[in-house]
Amino acid sequence: MVGIMEIYQLLPKLNCKECGKPTCMAFASSLLSRESALEECPPLYESEYAGQLEQLSSLMAPVSGATETGLIIHDELCFGCGNCVVACPVNVANDPHGAAIGLAPSNDKVILVVEDGVVVARNVGECRRFGENKILCDACIVTCPSKAIEFV
Ligand code: SF4
Ligand code: SF4
Ligand code: SF4
Repeated sequence: MVGIMEIYQLLPKLNCKECGKPTCMAFASSLLSRESALEECPPLYESEYAGQLEQLSSLMAPVSGATETGLIIHDELCFGCGNCVVACPVNVANDPHGAAIGLAPSNDKVILVVEDGVVVARNVGECRRFGENKILCDACIVTCPSKAIEFV
């Protein structure tokens, strides 16, 4: 999982505010929540920071591929076992006779579904980690034997 300090350490740390944020730390936080992009820090594109830009680009690659809730599914690691599908409390609550028991989803209120041998996320706004009453649900993460699910 990418951490804010890891991002901050690679920024120019000039606190120049050119990115529109008051400090480099604030920009790091904004990058992590995907509200800002690396391109918004002009100093980072100066030659002296080329190495840092390269490292940051590679560090941020998975973050930019995350859903709006921060969910990342690493397709290359998923083998479609369905553990996460039956463990997700939203799937259980919304589709007790379908996805919750490993069957095809009977409605569109489920989050995790196996399609063509790989899990896909739908309806991610329903995730317990998201929204006003969010909680640190990790049911899908801990039940995945191949560490294919991550949140940023
Ligand atoms: S533009 Fe870059 S160097 Fe300047 S405050 Fe923002 S993140 Fe820091
Ligand atoms: S974090 Fe919880 S609610 Fe969200 S997809 Fe994973 S198991 Fe479902
Ligand atoms: S538990 Fe992991 S390997 Fe199994 S379907 Fe879910 S993401 Fe894929």
